[in-house]
Amino acid sequence: MRIEAPKTRDDWQALAAALTFETRAFIDDESVAAASGETFETRNPATGEVLARVASCDAADAEVAVRHARAAFARGDWSRLAPGKRKKVLLRLAELMEAHKNELALLDTLDMGKPVSSSLGDMAGAIGCLRYQAECIDKLYGEVAPTGEETLALVLREPLGVVAAIVPWNFPLMMTAWKIAPALAAGNSVILKPSEKSPLSALRLAQLAKEAGLPRGVFQVLPGFGHTVGQALALSLEVDCLAFTGSTATGKQLMQYAGASNLKRVYLECGGKSPNLVFADCKDLDRVAKHAAAAIFHNQGEVCIAGSRLLVENPIREAFVEKVLVAAERMQPGDPLDPASFMGAIVDRAQYERVLDYIRRGVEEGATLRTGGKALDEPGLFIPPTVFDGVSDTMAIGREEIFGPVLAVFGFDTEEEAIALANDSVYGLAAGLWSQDIDRIMRVTRRLASGQVFVNNWAGGDQTMPFGGVKQSGNGRDKSHHSLEEYSDLKSVWISLAT
Ligand code: NAD
Repeated sequence: MRIEAPKTRDDWQALAAALTFETRAFIDDESVAAASGETFETRNPATGEVLARVASCDAADAEVAVRHARAAFARGDWSRLAPGKRKKVLLRLAELMEAHKNELALLDTLDMGKPVSSSLGDMAGAIGCLRYQAECIDKLYGEVAPTGEETLALVLREPLGVVAAIVPWNFPLMMTAWKIAPALAAGNSVILKPSEKSPLSALRLAQLAKEAGLPRGVFQVLPGFGHTVGQALALSLEVDCLAFTGSTATGKQLMQYAGASNLKRVYLECGGKSPNLVFADCKDLDRVAKHAAAAIFHNQGEVCIAGSRLLVENPIREAFVEKVLVAAERMQPGDPLDPASFMGAIVDRAQYERVLDYIRRGVEEGATLRTGGKALDEPGLFIPPTVFDGVSDTMAIGREEIFGPVLAVFGFDTEEEAIALANDSVYGLAAGLWSQDIDRIMRVTRRLASGQVFVNNWAGGDQTMPFGGVKQSGNGRDKSHHSLEEYSDLKSVWISLAT
């Protein structure tokens, strides 16, 4: 079924009803069952309905896929292909994704509960990333080192070999694109392990990659659990790089696996508890409040860079929180298939219980619950925007990543106090700063311990900007030409010339 430009909930429901799911792994150019024959179920969290049973890969499948990935790398029909030719194939894949963007968006929405309008935004991000990295790859030059005339010294960039990309469920296809686009563009063989909570779009992507002309074994997809297939990839002696997005706890495990196996490179994009600083000199507090609410409630708060700590200068705090509550009221969760919904369902029951548990702890720890706090009626897993005021840095809701629609509001009196509060976290992924004072903006920006700082906006950025964190938010950088550097190695060639 094809509706060229679905606009209404009915359009999306009709498309959803006609969807079929690819549920098999994609290994060496073929869609196959897991070697064990095992499957796991994936559910629509907005309805509780089981969508499909998906191949549950384990170490045996990982071993086969790694063997094919290595063989493809050695064959060289991708790894040694001229960059301009790799570019053409990746641009073709981007075209195919564009042609199938409604279907891909729908798969993510059904699988993990985010509103379809938001999934469409993710598709634009994923396709844009593929195009950007494809366009970059034939514009990167090596170097000639400044030596004497008796030598020609070259610095070459070469692909690493086999990259295992392990990704989360909150932006399933977009996080996938951020990893696979630069890794493939650089000439690597890539094995993708999607989250067990959202495997469907990755399996569809594999079919499109085949159609686009990626040679066999260059891109493979292994659905399954972290402790089975994920761990096997991370421990493999034949995987050269782990490109990971997910929780800090898993990131730490991956570093151990790399140390226990072959010292593979590990690029981590992990969790956050991002501070959003609002100073009293802001001009338009209504606008700032809308952005502060969207910073946490977008994607149900299941965003690594969610602005989950709102730090407000005390003289405006009460008035500002009132404005945030007004904005939050307009962001209530709704049917993910309704393009008007701002928030959808929480990804699964485990995450839903976790968020509700944090809300209980917030109340017990003495924070003031200003709105939300109670789930909607089931079977759908919906939690409304929840705002706590009077949060302190000793409370769990003020320190730990909740990954749900829960905002913790802190007050501050001075710039120094705001900076200290903002930096008092094991995380350092993103920070926001709202002020009209350019001197303050530059002072504070430089002192925020964060991979990215958003000044008078939240989550601004495009493909040209690197994305990643400091401290326990990780060490990798997605997007921009810098991410291409991560998936290639430098080779120094010293050529002695006859004199
Ligand atoms: P997670 O760490 O539970 O899982 C992420 C992926 O790792 C999944 O595919 C999972 O199956 C796999 N995995 C789990 N245990 C593993 C193991 N032992 N070995 C190998 N693989 C394993 O994270 P999640 O719940 O899927 O995602 C939420 C987290 O992701 C949050 O902490 C969020 O902040 C983070 N995140 C970070 C960014 C970023 O760019 N920094 C972006 C999105 C999400």
